[in-house]
Parts: sequence; structure tokens; C-alpha cells
Amino acid sequence: MRVRHHYCIDERESVVEFLKRYQISYEVIGMVGDKTIIFDIYEDQYSYEMFKKTFPMLSISSFKNLEFSKEDIEKSKWLMVSCRGTNVEYVFQKEAFQYSCPYKIPFHKEPFYRHFKQISNLTVEKSVKWGKRQFFSGPNSMENIIFCSERTKNILENRWEGLQFKNVINKKGNDYVDDLYQLFFEKSIPFSAFIDAKSVRCHKCRKKMILVSDCIFKIKEEYLQDSSKVYQTGEVITDGRIFGETVVLYIVPQEFYRYCEEHGMNRGMDYRPVELV
Ligand SMILES: [Zn+2]
Ligand SMILES: [Zn+2]
Repeated sequence: MRVRHHYCIDERESVVEFLKRYQISYEVIGMVGDKTIIFDIYEDQYSYEMFKKTFPMLSISSFKNLEFSKEDIEKSKWLMVSCRGTNVEYVFQKEAFQYSCPYKIPFHKEPFYRHFKQISNLTVEKSVKWGKRQFFSGPNSMENIIFCSERTKNILENRWEGLQFKNVINKKGNDYVDDLYQLFFEKSIPFSAFIDAKSVRCHKCRKKMILVSDCIFKIKEEYLQDSSKVYQTGEVITDGRIFGETVVLYIVPQEFYRYCEEHGMNRGMDYRPVELV
């Protein structure tokens, strides 16, 4: 695993000089007087040590990304999976969810909610034109949802216990969209399966949530035994943002990864190892 630090900072001469000296490629965007420098440094690089020494305050303002090699992924019995594609024009419909603990954000009329649970089919703007080598896609928004085509569904269906292919509704709300399904993970890992986790409570309802950074957490091995099953984490993971929204993460066995790999389906899919204890 490698840790990549992504920086987006206000342009300064001293930083540009540093980047040139250490031959770190960068990009400058924006207009005169309001320019941003964008660059990445890996934590295991000498230049990162030097950057920390030279710009201690700036160096902590990075967005951390974890990068796993193919080997890391192939060694891991269980994996977290998500999809980078953004081909699905997802339309948020309240009716598809059970939600609680509203909060307000300035300049937004509608309240936001801390806890969500999907209870029925999702809605999209329109159907998706799937590329020949494209099997999955995420939404064109921040939600962690995996959609797939009919072809994908036919390849994967009935192979993993707990994996459902939910129809997706058109915007008018009167029909299912052709050739589009949502991968729905029925089984949740119980709260007690998370180990060493810092937990926090919702300010409002006192619901216990697990605080993670970089989506890293440990799961007791006894809860992940059967490699014919897939799971979700339940609505318990939060990254501790001020409002404490929860996210749901999807967990699949190595066999799922390998099967998709054999069928050339993993393009655009993001896997990362789950640590078992
Ligand atoms: Zn950026
Ligand atoms: Zn709550």
C-alpha cells in the first residue's frame, strides 16, 4: 500500500521552487492573483520528507489517498468494493429511503439527514449506454452506489448469497429502466464485528456509529467466513464530518474479485483490502 498526498494550495513562489527542485509535476489553475497549485506526493518519497520539513503547516493540508497494488488486493481474503464510473444520472428520491436526524445547512432549504436506509428502488434520469467493456458504473454524484447492466447481472446473478439486483425506476416513476440494475447488498455485518474501532454517538438520537478515516477499519474474522456471501457495513460508518452522516460500504470475498477479473469486468472498479483480526 502507498499513501499519496494530494495538495491543492494557493500559489506561492516558494512552493513552485520546491516542486521544481524535487522534480514533482504540478498543475496551476485559476487566474492571475487567484491561482491554485495542484500536485501529489507519495509518503514513501524522499521529497515528502523534505516537503514536511520545509512547509510543515502546508504539508498537513493534503487529501490522503491510499493506493493498493494488484498484489495487495489478490492477497486479501475480503475486499471493500466501490465503483468510480459516473455514467448513471442518479435522481435522489426521498421515498426510496428511511431517514432520521435532520440537520440544516446554510443556504439549503431542505434539511439533510444523518442516517439513511434504502427501503425501495432508486430512480435515475435516463437509461445508460453501456460500453463494450463496461460492466458497472457509479452515479454522477457522491453516493456510494454500484449500478450494472443486464449483461453483468446475468453473469453475476445467483452466485453470491446476499447480492440482489434491484430494478431502477425512471424519472416519471412509472416504469423500470431497461438494462440497468443496482447491486444491492442485503446482509449487514453486525456492529460487534468491528474491532478496535473508535465509536461516536449521533448528537441527536445517540445511535452508535464507527468513526473511520480513509475507510480503514478492522473486522473480526469470525464474521467473514463464508466466501459465497457478500455484505454491507450497515449505516454505521462515519468519517466524523461535522454533521456525522453515515455511509454504507460494500464487502466482497476475494472470489468475487477473481470472478470479475476472469470475466474482464473490473474496469472502473475500486477494491481495497479489509483487515481481518
Ligand atoms: Zn484537488
Ligand atoms: Zn441520529
